[in-house]
Amino acid sequence: MRSTQALIYRKNLIHNINEIKRQLKNPATKICVSVKADGYGCGAITTAQAAVECGVTHLAVATVDEGSELRDAGIKCDVLLYSPFAFDEIEDVFRLDLSPFVFDEEIVEKLQAESQKPKAKSQKLKVHLAVDTGMGRVGCDPKDAATLAKKIVLSENLELAGMCTHFAVSDSTTTDDVAYTKKQFAIFCDAIQNVRDSGLNPGLCHCAASAGLLAFPEMQMDMVRPGIITYGYYPDKINREYLESVGRHCDLRPVMALKTNVASVREFDAGKSVSYGRTWTAQQKTKIAILPVGYADGLLRRSSPGLEVAIGGKKYPVRGRICMDQCMVEVDGSVKRGDEVLIFGPKESGALQTAQEIADATNTISYEVMTSISERVPRVIVR
Ligand SMILES: *Cc1c(COP(=O)(O)O)cnc(C)c1O
Repeated sequence: MRSTQALIYRKNLIHNINEIKRQLKNPATKICVSVKADGYGCGAITTAQAAVECGVTHLAVATVDEGSELRDAGIKCDVLLYSPFAFDEIEDVFRLDLSPFVFDEEIVEKLQAESQKPKAKSQKLKVHLAVDTGMGRVGCDPKDAATLAKKIVLSENLELAGMCTHFAVSDSTTTDDVAYTKKQFAIFCDAIQNVRDSGLNPGLCHCAASAGLLAFPEMQMDMVRPGIITYGYYPDKINREYLESVGRHCDLRPVMALKTNVASVREFDAGKSVSYGRTWTAQQKTKIAILPVGYADGLLRRSSPGLEVAIGGKKYPVRGRICMDQCMVEVDGSVKRGDEVLIFGPKESGALQTAQEIADATNTISYEVMTSISERVPRVIVR
């Protein structure tokens, strides 16, 4: 196996899932763990299995293919499909028994038409009615929720399993953003009431992702949909310090470490430049370690200059541009070929920074740092 690997600390995954459970005001609230984008890079199957072991009842994916991967691995629990699917995937949605978000009449009609084909299972397909209360992404207009709910309930082979919405700024702590989230929640509650008033059961009502469930416990409703916190990172401004400041405690541990090993150490004379564009030149005799990891592995090209990596408990700076498959680090005499290099990860991996720190330095979020780790990096589960 290549030496560049994503180590997956399964213990931390389980710790985080239990920590999510501890955040629930009502222990009967269900948890839907988002395992989309290959479990935020940490492995969808690994995460799904850990979640099911911890008693989680629902999982969520973004695409039908991701749902298929879960079913192939023998995962039997409810699987929500968060993102819109193509109508030619509907047959697979039924075959795999995925629960899609629906939000307009045509989607309901297309699902209904497929379910009437004789080869489809007789069992009803669970769907969740998504309401756009202010995210500006998928969802129906709140005033259409009751009409759509009725259409779903009247569809012979569809079951209204739930109603949901998604927040736009629940990871922010500014007064305006907090007011916006509360307004979204109020609109959602109204839409649910309209459905109830028309004599229908809305099913499981859910709106809170990681940020919502941590920052607004009163919005946990029947189910919460954590993603990023499962993998050990706080959603933007809703970090450990903020939570402590409002009297709550949430201890998250990073699940993924990105490591490699020094492929070679070379000595460069003063004046010798490193990598494409010649953006860095040795000012004196310098030891340069070659690492077999690059931006095609997900090491963001824009993280250099500035990125430092850990070798033997010490930080060393990346020099010159990060290439597709390699990058170079200025080291000292203590670093040898084969030494382990930690780019980010939990403390116990030997890393001296987390994906959050790389995200902060590159003007992005931990989500992007982790989901950028590409398929060619083997995931190795640490038990
Ligand atoms: C991705 C996603 C989530 C999880 O979001 P996090 O911020 O990672 O907790 C929840 N709900 C929906 C609809 C999503 O798309």
